[in-house]
Amino acid sequence: MRVKIRYRIPLVLALAVAALLAPGCMDNRLNRPVARAGEDMSVEAGEAVTLDGSRSLGRRGRIVTWHWTQLEGTPVQLSDPSGPVTTFITPETASGVQVLVFCLAVTDEGGGSNTDTVRVTVRALAGQAKYVILLIGDGMQMAYEVALSRYLYGTDQDLSWHSFPLRTVCATWHIDTYDRYAWAYGAPRYTDSGFNPVLGYDPHLGGGWTYDGWWNPPSDEYFLTPLPAWGGGWEAIPATDSAASGTALACGRKTEAGNVNWAAGDPANGALTFIGEECRGQKSMALGVVTTVPFAHATPACFASHATTRYAYEEISTEIIHRTRPDVVIGAGHPDWSGFAYISEDDYAGLKSGNVPPYSEYLLVEREVGMDGGVALEAAVNTLLNPAHPAHGRKLFGLFGGWGGYMEHPEPEDAPGMPGFTWPEGAEENPSLGECTRAALRVLTQRGKGRGFFLMVEGGDIDWANHAMDYSWMIGAMHQFDEAMKAVHAFVEDPATPLTWENTLVILTSDHSNGYLRFCPGTVLGRGRLPAVIPEPSPENHSCEIWYGAPGVHTNEPVMVYARGAGASLFRDYQGRMYPSTRLVDNTDIHAVMRRAVGLR
Ligand SMILES: [Zn+2]
Repeated sequence: MRVKIRYRIPLVLALAVAALLAPGCMDNRLNRPVARAGEDMSVEAGEAVTLDGSRSLGRRGRIVTWHWTQLEGTPVQLSDPSGPVTTFITPETASGVQVLVFCLAVTDEGGGSNTDTVRVTVRALAGQAKYVILLIGDGMQMAYEVALSRYLYGTDQDLSWHSFPLRTVCATWHIDTYDRYAWAYGAPRYTDSGFNPVLGYDPHLGGGWTYDGWWNPPSDEYFLTPLPAWGGGWEAIPATDSAASGTALACGRKTEAGNVNWAAGDPANGALTFIGEECRGQKSMALGVVTTVPFAHATPACFASHATTRYAYEEISTEIIHRTRPDVVIGAGHPDWSGFAYISEDDYAGLKSGNVPPYSEYLLVEREVGMDGGVALEAAVNTLLNPAHPAHGRKLFGLFGGWGGYMEHPEPEDAPGMPGFTWPEGAEENPSLGECTRAALRVLTQRGKGRGFFLMVEGGDIDWANHAMDYSWMIGAMHQFDEAMKAVHAFVEDPATPLTWENTLVILTSDHSNGYLRFCPGTVLGRGRLPAVIPEPSPENHSCEIWYGAPGVHTNEPVMVYARGAGASLFRDYQGRMYPSTRLVDNTDIHAVMRRAVGLR
């Protein structure tokens, strides 16, 4: 009796406090079990959260039932509301923060019950990304990432983006790929309003992960069997081209091969709005494109123009220079090396003189014999950023490239244990991709005037190397791409720039796979090692070091996506959405994440 009296007053107080804190949930009368819903937490929108009630204690016997309910906030889907541990994805939050409150009710073997609450504070992500940097390794599936990592470090996953917190696998199919499968399976062809994503990429046949040097997808046959086009006839390995996949990334829309931001079927009014246009129109952000291949080539074209065919180079370059007029263009296609294949004589002459619009908006820096391209590019940027110079505040046009149409790459040496690169003679008249990226970031920061920017950086000749099955070129091109990411990383982390991981979204991916590179079983190319012989492709050829299962052509093998910074965790909302019971995203989802991260309407 005396015991009860001694405890009654504090207990009443405790109950009163508990009732004030969480009405309807908390009740700690004696002889009841102790419910423990876990520590309060603060997370980002789109994050996976685990609620752990397993530390609850029974007063009479073990805890036998758990029951989680949500008391406050946007309703979420709990994975296992009757388990000790349950998970959910935090909802999108329009602005600021919102608090989700959950109640855990437990009972023990003696029939006693109790409850506890846990608060989850969700920070908004949408609209937080002022700076978006999208890096595209053209024709780069994971095997090529492994190849460079092994060459540089002797390990598989040590490139500059491999430590990013968000990494996932991405399907890249376009409408022609879909229609080949649809024809083969007797299914209806693709329409925007009625399609089955699994027909475009089937994880049961191709796997929910991708070849990483060790794990092989369940079926080579799925990726390597040529199929007839819709309606029969011409057979090919189903796979997207760069224009259709660039359109998916830039506009979030599936289209057909060759279309640059243009709807399938080439209707007259079929131009699609690309993300840079929207960033500019809605947020006054600056816009830049950087590539190692001609600036009017398919991938950069998808971030600066529209065309019914990717091969309309003159039309594309005219749109870029006269209408889109990005704040930064750096690429190959210089007429002294490529002729006037990628830029018209008038436009080249106009940019060179720079005295009438639209040319006068730009400062041109170009390849010159005997001049180091990186030095020339940096000097041009210093000019643009110098308030005392008449060209101060202009846009930057960097026109480089060599005989092959692309900026030459450094050559890797076959030196076991000592990886190294040498530049072929004259190649340093081109800037490196790292130098191009840094130049673009500096100019865009100034041109964005605090409102941010969208930058696309393409390792374009990775794809060209893989079409040629040139392993050494591929390593050189991949190394350039790795250096580009290092330049991005250094710029975001530099306290002298306004970019931080809180206001910058960095995404690295590829537009499609190419060549179906495989490392032969039993061989690991170590640090500094290049394969001695590139054999005839054959899965049975085990005496080799590497082989190409799809010599010189694209495949539908999924590619990787790596993301870091503002909005990176939004990818979790899309994992498995189109490809159930996998963690796959679609290339159109990358567009959706960028839109939401920037806060586009
Ligand atoms: Zn491509």
